[in-house]
Amino acid sequence: MITSSVLVLLGIGFISAVILAVASKLLYVYEDPRIAQVESVLAGANCGGCGYPGCAGAAQGVVEGKAGANVCVIGGDEVAAKVADIMGLEFASTEKQTAFVDCTGGVRAEETYEYHGVADCRAQHMLYGGNKMCPEGCLGYGTCVTACQFGAIEIGPDGYPVVDPNLCTACGGCAQVCPRGVITIRGMTARITHLNELTDCLAPCRQRCPGQINIPRYIEQVSRGDYAGALETIRERIPMPLSIGRVCPHPCEGVCRRGHVDEPVGINMIKRFAADWEMNSGTRLPISCAPETGRKVAVVGGGPAGLSCAFFLRRLGHSPTIFESMPELGGQLRYGIPEYRLPNAVLDWEIEGILNLGIEVRHEHNFGTDFTLKTLEEEGFEAVFLGVGAWMNMNLRIDNENAKGVETGTEFLTKVGLGVDTGIGKKVVVIGGGNTAIDTSRSSVRLGAHVTLMYRRTRNEMPAHIEEIVGSEEEGVNYLFLSAPKRIITDDDGHVTHVEYIKMELGEPDASGRRRPVPIEGSETLIECDTVYTAIGQKPELSCLYDGSGTCTLEETRWRTLGAHPDTLQTALPHVFTGGDMHTGPALVITALGEGRKAARSIHQLLTEGRIHYSSQLQRELIPYTMFTDVPDVGYRRRSELPHQIECDERKCTFKEIEGPLGLADVKHETCRCLRCGLTCYNRDLTEGQECLAEDCVKNP
Ligand code: FAD
Repeated sequence: MITSSVLVLLGIGFISAVILAVASKLLYVYEDPRIAQVESVLAGANCGGCGYPGCAGAAQGVVEGKAGANVCVIGGDEVAAKVADIMGLEFASTEKQTAFVDCTGGVRAEETYEYHGVADCRAQHMLYGGNKMCPEGCLGYGTCVTACQFGAIEIGPDGYPVVDPNLCTACGGCAQVCPRGVITIRGMTARITHLNELTDCLAPCRQRCPGQINIPRYIEQVSRGDYAGALETIRERIPMPLSIGRVCPHPCEGVCRRGHVDEPVGINMIKRFAADWEMNSGTRLPISCAPETGRKVAVVGGGPAGLSCAFFLRRLGHSPTIFESMPELGGQLRYGIPEYRLPNAVLDWEIEGILNLGIEVRHEHNFGTDFTLKTLEEEGFEAVFLGVGAWMNMNLRIDNENAKGVETGTEFLTKVGLGVDTGIGKKVVVIGGGNTAIDTSRSSVRLGAHVTLMYRRTRNEMPAHIEEIVGSEEEGVNYLFLSAPKRIITDDDGHVTHVEYIKMELGEPDASGRRRPVPIEGSETLIECDTVYTAIGQKPELSCLYDGSGTCTLEETRWRTLGAHPDTLQTALPHVFTGGDMHTGPALVITALGEGRKAARSIHQLLTEGRIHYSSQLQRELIPYTMFTDVPDVGYRRRSELPHQIECDERKCTFKEIEGPLGLADVKHETCRCLRCGLTCYNRDLTEGQECLAEDCVKNP
């Protein structure tokens, strides 16, 4: 009995074993052992930043060829190299990404009502749309904080998220849960190539700056003593903070909300302070560049536009070569703007820093004669940036304009910049009312001349910067307003002896909005002189675009500038881009620098992706609802002034720099005056008894 039971059991066992053996053969699923190997080297956080459900999923993705070696967003290069090793893939270093919070609101943003619902950003957003005046800003309920597995985000003292870049792994968890898109994951390339969009948190100053610099951010960094961070912020938009800190007429300050309370924040002085700090430290801050792509780009013209384009192309990994017709780089910064405003030593230091990134330069190479678009292509340049400025002078169209002793202001300033004999006389008449006229006048004074500036309208209509007009008056330049030249009178040798001019009166406004000067018949008068400098405007010299047969494949606008798409700066030839004065006509250094970056961005996208993209939400004009002038609850604080390094009498005989930098106490004071504006919010913390971000800020009501 027992024997038969045992036999039955053995039989059942045998049949089960056979069934299992057959089933395991039939149902067996092979798992590639490399999945386990790859998973074992991943960071193991299961954060989902890679887009796969956990690390096992990511490993499977790699083995199936759906993901690359750098699938793990938090593992960095070390993990990517190990994955590549296991899989036999090529390893390429990836750029460090980090979460970036671009909302400066906080307790300062006006609250419209209080919530009584769940304290979750998404729920609040869906139910109420947000409780702040700002339609774009952070809601402040901290869902991003709970979403971060790495403890990299906390709610800061203003009630808004603050990211610790050292802890941030760029997994993207925070960005995914943010309903307002306030947090983005960005690396250097993405930050450099970003153009202002309407949904960005754009304070008025940021909207107005042609260079799109994140002004509130760098001011906040300077206020904390983080000068290196401030320069990094500035250099994501422009490569020349030293020069801009000296010569920019700071249009940003014209829309500064603080200006509706007392006076605008001295934005440009703060920038200059940070830039001077680096130069005076004697050590250059490192500037990060993406890995080399080996793609060759020709940059024609080494002025601000060309330098900016080359700088950003290099930072994006490409290999730019600058072709410059003059012996030195800098364009009008060197051959127009005189040294008493921008010393050559400062400019040289700044340009050296740009070239140190690995940019080749070919000096004294003239586009149109020494090389052409065709020869550049033959040399292997895949794209070309044209930024040759606006160096052709407008004519007065009066008799004897070409007499001896008559020259253009820019020709004279270029000679001063080159350090060659200008041939200037003792009695100089300068004709014009813009910056070139003022620079010509003040430089002439420094060379010992008695100078009269002739302008056909009044002081109020002069296009020159007011600081420059005041400076010229202090230095003894005489003004002859409401006067226009009629003819040049010469001696027997053909040398100028007088200018005959006619008196004007102001009539109706013209297209520029300024009142039109109208001649007063019979008011002709003579002024004695031995030198005349004309400075009535410039335009780009486009003859370099024409080939021997007189054909130009690029589009010339009716303002005689080079035509291009306003957002991409691509010309009629897809691989040719432009920017700066050549594209805009005579403008500002900051505009040229901004266009250089924009063009570099387009070239980068064309080379790496085959097409250029831009958002339909680009910010081009000031955003009307952010331009309110009612800025209540802000205490009065006086604006700091840039100190003069030399007295007025000394100024008249030297090209030494006039303005010095702000001192530390003044710069802290000035950063405290910044209201840390966002789209609609601003900081009211500046009333008595409330703290400024800089701990030892000098309050100076
Ligand atoms: P540019 O600075 O003109 O540079 C063009 C470069 O191209 C030059 O280096 C030139 O040598 C080179 N080039 C020209 N032709 C060729 C060719 N065929 N082949 C190769 N290279 C070539 N702006 C301000 O913001 N603040 C100021 O205070 C101010 N003051 C100014 C004072 C003066 C006297 C002048 C003339 C301008 C001033 N500007 C000022 C305007 C400002 O300088 C320009 O807007 C800015 O320099 C434009 O930069 P860019 O690179 O487009 O052109």
